[in-house]
Amino acid sequence: MDDNKRKVLEEEVRAQADRSIETLYSYLRLKTVSAQNLAIPETVNFVSELLNSLGAEVKVLDDLGGNPIIYGFLPAGEKGNASKTLLFYDHYDVQPPDPLDEWNSDPFEPYLKDGILYARGTADNKGTLMQRLAAIKALENTSGLPCNIKFLIEGEEEVGSPSIAAYLEKYADLFKADACIWEFGNKDAAERVSLFAGIKGSAYYEFSTKSAIIDIHSSLAAVIDNPAWRLVQALASMKNQNNDITVEGFFDEIEEPDEALIKTVRAVPFNDEALKKSFGLTRPFITEARGEVPQDALMLQPTLTICGMVSGYIGEGAKTVLPKEAKVKIDCRMVPGQTGEHLLACFKRHLARHGFSDVKVEMIESQRAFRSDINDPFLKLVKKTAEEAYQSEAVLYPNSAGTGPMYVFDKYLHLPIVSTGVGWAESKAHAPNESIRMKDYVDGSLHMAYLLTEFAAQ
Ligand SMILES: [Zn+2]
Repeated sequence: MDDNKRKVLEEEVRAQADRSIETLYSYLRLKTVSAQNLAIPETVNFVSELLNSLGAEVKVLDDLGGNPIIYGFLPAGEKGNASKTLLFYDHYDVQPPDPLDEWNSDPFEPYLKDGILYARGTADNKGTLMQRLAAIKALENTSGLPCNIKFLIEGEEEVGSPSIAAYLEKYADLFKADACIWEFGNKDAAERVSLFAGIKGSAYYEFSTKSAIIDIHSSLAAVIDNPAWRLVQALASMKNQNNDITVEGFFDEIEEPDEALIKTVRAVPFNDEALKKSFGLTRPFITEARGEVPQDALMLQPTLTICGMVSGYIGEGAKTVLPKEAKVKIDCRMVPGQTGEHLLACFKRHLARHGFSDVKVEMIESQRAFRSDINDPFLKLVKKTAEEAYQSEAVLYPNSAGTGPMYVFDKYLHLPIVSTGVGWAESKAHAPNESIRMKDYVDGSLHMAYLLTEFAAQ
């Protein structure tokens, strides 16, 4: 793009981003809480209309159950490259606004103060979708769309995307594209743009053991075994004091990282002091004791985490009791290659081998990890255009610590995926007072316009 063309586009993007704010407000006023099944049809209509108004071909897919998935297609303009297609993945649902009394304004009435816009869904993900649409409008008004653009906008992201795999399998041809821009991203506290080329997987389990039909007087502990001790001992056999996971086979499926990936992982910033301060940590990082690079642990290693435990009496004062049962919830953040099913088999075998056949384990849910090929030129392009649009450094994370349905996109569409969005360090997605900064909203629109233009030429 020559300088003059770039300047014209930049001005038009800024104008369109400003003009889109009223529409963003209307979108934010829709209480699209998927966990409570609220406002789904209204929101599907609203988003379909938004795409229609850009001239898109729109299909509302609902034949496989779940909340409808919106498909949108915009062909390349006359001067564009019709052989290239970029897919945007976004979602129209939001998290519940609770706890309501911690909001400083109505979560479903957009409130703008000092350049910061507050409402549920601003960062995750309604603001991000609107930012992409403003970029498309600006391109349409200037040199035309540089490539084909597709949208997949779902309504169940905030409840774990239970339907998306089935739709992607059936409609793989419809959503076929050369690359995908994913739904989230933010600037960090040092104003660097964080981009994510993958996500970790997640598998969730419940371990439990029950040894009686009612709680028992604890004097009988002299003769009756205690399920809380049983579970604690079973857990202790799975991870030692050095934080090594000792479940046999746990690491078997992991894809070995290559040199380029390790290099990228270690180039990512890790602010240990800020982390320690923001959580008020009282213990050193486990990676310090293990002599590990924290970035390696965060991005290349799986975890085995006790999320919560219950057994017996934990109220005020004393109640001597021998509990009838004990339960623990465990999550594993998985890396590419790993499956929740394999880990379940490992846990079952481990418990049997170590004399804990009374401890039952079941898998509640699992989603696999995905990481784009770190050498794919699309990743470099997203980073380069982010730096040009935001005029600040961008950091490409090989994968984020979070989870989402990226794996099934790659499974059915086979394409590189990078996540980027409108958030900032204080966006508080999922929490009270969720917000975005209007400057990021505009810069992010410009990022999308530059990216689409250069992607078409690549
Ligand atoms: Zn979310």
